[in-house]
Amino acid sequence: MNNAIFNMERPVNEHTMDYAPGCKERKALNAELARMSSEVIDIPLIIDGKEVRTGKTGKVVMPHDHQHVLATYHMAGEKEVQMAIDAALKAHREWAEFSWVERVSISLKVAELVAKKYRYVMNAATMLGQGKNAYQAEIDAACETIDFLRYNAFFTSEIYRLQPNSQPGVINRTEYRPLEGFIFTVSPFNFTAIGSNLNMAPVVMGNTVVWKPSSTSLLSNYTLMKIYKEAGVPDGVINFLPGSGSLIGKTVLGHRDFTGIHFTGSTETFNGIWKSITENIRNYKSYPRIVGETGGKDFIVVHPSADPQEVAVAIVRGAFEYQGQKCSAASRSYIPRSLWEDTKSRMGEMISRITVGDVNEFSHFMNAVIDEKSFDNIMKYIDYAKKSNDAEVIFGGNGDKSKGYFIEPTVIQAKDPHFKTMEEEIFGPVMTIYVYEDKDFEEVLKICDSTSPYALTGSVFAKDRDALNHACRVLRYAAGNIYFNDKPSGAVVGQQPFGGARASGTNDKSGSFLNLLRWTSPRTIKETLIPPTEFTYPFMKEDRCH
Ligand code: NAD
Repeated sequence: MNNAIFNMERPVNEHTMDYAPGCKERKALNAELARMSSEVIDIPLIIDGKEVRTGKTGKVVMPHDHQHVLATYHMAGEKEVQMAIDAALKAHREWAEFSWVERVSISLKVAELVAKKYRYVMNAATMLGQGKNAYQAEIDAACETIDFLRYNAFFTSEIYRLQPNSQPGVINRTEYRPLEGFIFTVSPFNFTAIGSNLNMAPVVMGNTVVWKPSSTSLLSNYTLMKIYKEAGVPDGVINFLPGSGSLIGKTVLGHRDFTGIHFTGSTETFNGIWKSITENIRNYKSYPRIVGETGGKDFIVVHPSADPQEVAVAIVRGAFEYQGQKCSAASRSYIPRSLWEDTKSRMGEMISRITVGDVNEFSHFMNAVIDEKSFDNIMKYIDYAKKSNDAEVIFGGNGDKSKGYFIEPTVIQAKDPHFKTMEEEIFGPVMTIYVYEDKDFEEVLKICDSTSPYALTGSVFAKDRDALNHACRVLRYAAGNIYFNDKPSGAVVGQQPFGGARASGTNDKSGSFLNLLRWTSPRTIKETLIPPTEFTYPFMKEDRCH
């Protein structure tokens, strides 16, 4: 019997391997890349711990070599969605009763397996399937996945410790129940760690889930499913349903026991899901929790006191790492006239050294974008800028999809601060810059705040402290994560809780206790030790003082 009062220690972040030439980690990763590249695996659905094959299949390919098939995956139909819901509801009874210490222990075991036994498997799957280079895969598939698991174990214990006051003769307790029903988790292609966390955050709080992974991150996501099983996540707690989002969403969101959605993806998809929930609201047993982290149009505002070299590095890393396919990627910058030529030439020099290519060749700073749809969409924006009189493509601007979906790091200079590529999320390696007159810093802050519907991340570069403070005030609602003198991407679990508002989501801050609070429905228990035996109160007695 586990009757200890158990406290988790605050973890430290997982160390990032650098994969420098000659090191043993690089050798191990290369071996795993070679192994995975030489096979074609079959990815089933996993429902109630069992593999299910529907025969209706799709292909997982390498973004940098789209004729190379890595896996064939089975797609869920309505019947399988219903089976997954039933499995999640059945597993809920036991999982909700599991001691939280056991749940947390399983979660920590997943972290340990990713950190040690499966680190290179997770990284190689993310590199080959999602087009990340070794470093981008390491900070995502290994480090962030592990950090989410370890920090959430700690936050769970912190939440459970929160208890109400008790008075003499009365004991008050709060019990942190999981939600009543099942959670729908819907993950994007661009972060393996997000795929893991969308599931494991509700699961560690005692919930069970139906998971719709992205079709372009299935290699790493299926690996996660196998690790969950090995770590001891019971059958039915996480049910894995590759397939069409709209088909799966329709059945799940219409179900009476749907009790919450944990989503990360585009604003458009989330808006559609929210609409379906509203239409179904009378069918549900409980009001569902709606948690969604969505798109961004992340900015860098530069004050005339900033250092052009620091700004150029922030733009190049912030906009082009992982081909700009991060929700937090920098995609618009405001640069003062006095710093522009210097910043531009430094940026140009850095961009001239960037190569775009195969993830197996470690020299490339950039690789391919995820798929043809994305390639075409990004090129459409670049072509629009090329044809416009209000903008000029000053670096890059070319793409080639013959072998892989490669696009050059591209910089557009816009004459109009409301130019289309200053406002809309492109989700590719495209930075748009607006050069402003130095005297207009105040004005440019207001433009930055009001230009785009999103409010995810942003940076301010300045040596002048007053300028930083002032920008922070004016841009208060322009970003959920704001950076001083740093690029707007690269949030670390436990250090920069992540999420934005406005059209960027519900800002429930993944990587903090705030997110976990959404996955519990607390119950308060009051116990009176000696109950009263008389119903009248003292004030009702006759007053003899007069
Ligand atoms: P997406 O919206 O195309 O897809 C996300 C997921 O939703 C996928 O699994 C997809 O299959 C599923 N889906 C699509 N239609 C659905 C429906 N009708 N019902 C249920 N599920 C459905 O997004 P993506 O291209 O995978 O990811 C990129 C987007 O994600 C960008 O907009 C990016 O900004 C955003 N993102 C945001 C954050 C954040 O923390 N704010 C993090 C990562 C990515």
